[in-house]
Amino acid sequence: MSNFEPLSVLTKQQLMTELCERLEDAIFILDSNLRYLSVNASYELMIGYKEAFLVGRPLGIYAAEFLSVEEQSILRDIHHNLDEHGFYELDFSMANRYGQTLDCHITYRRIHIEQGTYHVCMIQDLSSAVKDQKQLAHLLNYDQLTGLPNRKVFLNQTSDILLDSYQEVVVVRLNIDRYRNLSSLLGPEGTNKLIKNFVSGVEALKLKNLRCFSHFGGDDFALLFEYNDANLVRHQLDTLMQMCERPFSLGKNQAADNNIYYHVSIGVSYFPKDDCDVIELLTKAEKALQYVKQHGGDDIRWYDDAIEEDTAGSLQLEAELRLATTAGQFVPHYQPKFSLDTGEITGFEALVRWQHPTRGLLKPIHFIDAILTHKLSFELFSQMAIQIAKQLSIWQQQGFSQHVCINADAAEFSHPEFFSMVSGLLVEHGIAAHQLHIEVTESSLIQRHDNVRKQLNLLKELGICLALDDFGTGYASLSYLQEYPFDFIKIDKSFISNIDTDRTQYAIVKAILDLAVALDMQVVAEGIETVEQRDVLLDMGCENGQGYWFSKPVTADAATKMLMEQYAAK
Ligand code: C2E
Ligand code: MG
Ligand code: MG
Repeated sequence: MSNFEPLSVLTKQQLMTELCERLEDAIFILDSNLRYLSVNASYELMIGYKEAFLVGRPLGIYAAEFLSVEEQSILRDIHHNLDEHGFYELDFSMANRYGQTLDCHITYRRIHIEQGTYHVCMIQDLSSAVKDQKQLAHLLNYDQLTGLPNRKVFLNQTSDILLDSYQEVVVVRLNIDRYRNLSSLLGPEGTNKLIKNFVSGVEALKLKNLRCFSHFGGDDFALLFEYNDANLVRHQLDTLMQMCERPFSLGKNQAADNNIYYHVSIGVSYFPKDDCDVIELLTKAEKALQYVKQHGGDDIRWYDDAIEEDTAGSLQLEAELRLATTAGQFVPHYQPKFSLDTGEITGFEALVRWQHPTRGLLKPIHFIDAILTHKLSFELFSQMAIQIAKQLSIWQQQGFSQHVCINADAAEFSHPEFFSMVSGLLVEHGIAAHQLHIEVTESSLIQRHDNVRKQLNLLKELGICLALDDFGTGYASLSYLQEYPFDFIKIDKSFISNIDTDRTQYAIVKAILDLAVALDMQVVAEGIETVEQRDVLLDMGCENGQGYWFSKPVTADAATKMLMEQYAAK
């Protein structure tokens, strides 16, 4: 307090004047006869007249005889109240000089200073407050991108209808399939376009008895129907699915393919069969939706008890998978890769098998999606990598130098310990980096571009060979070759299955082989099942292959035996 200096009267007056001038609320001072003496800048702005014009003029700007009957009566009220109470306030719609009507709250206060009588008055512009409130209400109730009502409104409307409906109420939950992949491909702008396109498509269908079409955010939608027969909704939902079969065009300036195809998954529940509680109905529709998504998407499912059992099953699967990662139940099987020319084993692809305690040896199709869903892919990768490193070290000691390829989902790369774990294993087991190959599927590459590129470059610098798996099955096969440092292309088995009879397959594989030569990359053909396929590929100049014709994936012991036999035959 020692440095505190009170304001001088003059300074205080100057500061107060400055404050009034800068205040957002409009302020004006009138004399005893309600004529203007002074106004602040906000008042000038609001009313559209300058202080110089107003000073000396009566309240209402013009003489009283120009005012409407209502305004005259308000003016009389002001006079009367100020005379009586020295204070008056009112809400008032006031037209300004520009013809805008402003909703205002005005207060007048009579002040006596020395011999004079003054009125200090303040106007609050309610229109902006009202606008803010409306905006806020809009923000709270509607999705900003699509303008559709949000989850809260959907729930309110559903419960209102449930309360007094004598009809069937159908709750539909809808997601766009592979939305994360699509949005990585399209970018934020393209994704917004896709969502808006979907919404206008649904609106154009003019679905009958649709009571609410709601956007919960992202690719998440809900529809509410009121019908006297829920079956009538089935037909309308089929129409909606058919709508999605038409391609969506991104316009000319997008880097990706212009025509995008997308599918939707739909889950449905209805009152009175499923429940009469709004949250329960929504939950059941969501369970049906999850069921569709877990079974490949692009379908409609109405809620039933089987879904409940399936959900319980998937919960059990998750618990079992977590146990499997800690109990070491994942084991690699090895499928040999051959030189098509000499028939020699050049390396192996390690393929995971789950040694399930009760269900026996399981193939990836039964659990790999769940591994990704439950974010256990790094645990799986580490368990496989450790066993593979040990096996490579054993083979090395036995004099075999074949490489082993490990499958990785791009999701694994984002794990902070991924790179150090791989490089640590090489050192620990004395393995040359080129003996370890890593395969990444095209479909997993669509996400996390930056991080994946960084990790692949680091692995490449370490000397690890990189292969692009299932080539030709993804969205942007060719651009991946340009973006990432791959050494090998693995042609997907769907292009090999009829290569000896189908001219299109032949032409595609030929083009891939030419491309690989031009890019200085090597090719492995997957899924060779017959000698004819092997012969055609060999004639075309393909050097490496794998498939059941050579060998199915086998245990480490069986793989060692194959290596020994090959060595003995030399
Ligand atoms: P992929 O990497 O493309 O592996 C080839 C799949 O095709 C393997 O199935 C293999 O057994 C099978 N296959 C090989 N030759 C033939 C053939 O001649 N005909 C036919 N019809 N199939 C053949 P598998 O072992 O069931 O693996 C399926 C997929 O699971 C793999 O496809 C790979 O994407 C994934 N996967 C396997 N192991 C792992 C792993 O350790 N980690 C990750 N992230 N994914 C894995
Ligand atoms: Mg593979
Ligand atoms: Mg493959």
